[in-house]
Amino acid sequence: MPLPAGHKFPMPKYAGVRYLLEPVLPILEPPRIDWALVERVHDAAYLKKLRFGLLSDKEMRLMGFPWSEHLIERALRASGGTFLAAKDALQVGLGVNLAGGTHHAYPDHGEGFCVLNDVAIVALELLQNGLERILILDLDVHQGNGTAFIFQSDPRVFTISVHGERNYPFHKERSSLDFGLADWIEDADYLQLLQDQVFPAAETFKPQLIFYLAGVDVMAKDQFGRFALTLEGVKARDKLVFEFCRSNQIPVVSLMAGGYNKNLEQTIEAHVNTVLAALEVFVSPLLI
Ligand SMILES: [Zn+2]
Repeated sequence: MPLPAGHKFPMPKYAGVRYLLEPVLPILEPPRIDWALVERVHDAAYLKKLRFGLLSDKEMRLMGFPWSEHLIERALRASGGTFLAAKDALQVGLGVNLAGGTHHAYPDHGEGFCVLNDVAIVALELLQNGLERILILDLDVHQGNGTAFIFQSDPRVFTISVHGERNYPFHKERSSLDFGLADWIEDADYLQLLQDQVFPAAETFKPQLIFYLAGVDVMAKDQFGRFALTLEGVKARDKLVFEFCRSNQIPVVSLMAGGYNKNLEQTIEAHVNTVLAALEVFVSPLLI
């Protein structure tokens, strides 16, 4: 997707992650998700503007991207990837999308580099097809406001968001469970919180599937984060999440979500580590 020079969004991170993971596992091209599934979450008026390039300057500023044909193509394929990853998870326990987790997208507008709410689109389809309880575990540093809004009165979906209280979005929605943390939290306190509070709450809901938003913008020196986790701390976080899912036999879909480190290579390494952590937890035990 073309972006103007100097744009803050680190588009090259996707190619970098793919490049590093290609020798490790097969990477498939995701198809576009069906338009009919998108229409269940997003308003017709918004989708019309997306499709025909009718977004106002204000709407594009809020979304964070200029309109182009690639914008909608990319969003449809990212959601298609989340759908395929969810099918993988339900079949073998783990599914990975090397994109997705666009949790700031609302039914009627895009926001914060998010065009379509991929997780909401796929979750609604899975609920339609027999699943009864889905957990969205959002560990991106920013609150999953769009997702929380979409599922605020849907008891079938439990939304947990662990985020910076003083960070964007400045108007927070109400998730099923929010952990609004102080700035500059470090590895030990963050990991402790996961074990003491986040996982027990997740377990209580008895989800049949977990969407894990593994945003790496929790890492120190992220342009848009205000936490201070290390690269090792982020990998330890990912490993704890996957171990929780595996030991409770809950299928998990891993989604990239945000990552905007001042050092692009750190962002790429952290996203790659998420996938390696998943393989260590789900695949390595099978090889012993
Ligand atoms: Zn984020």
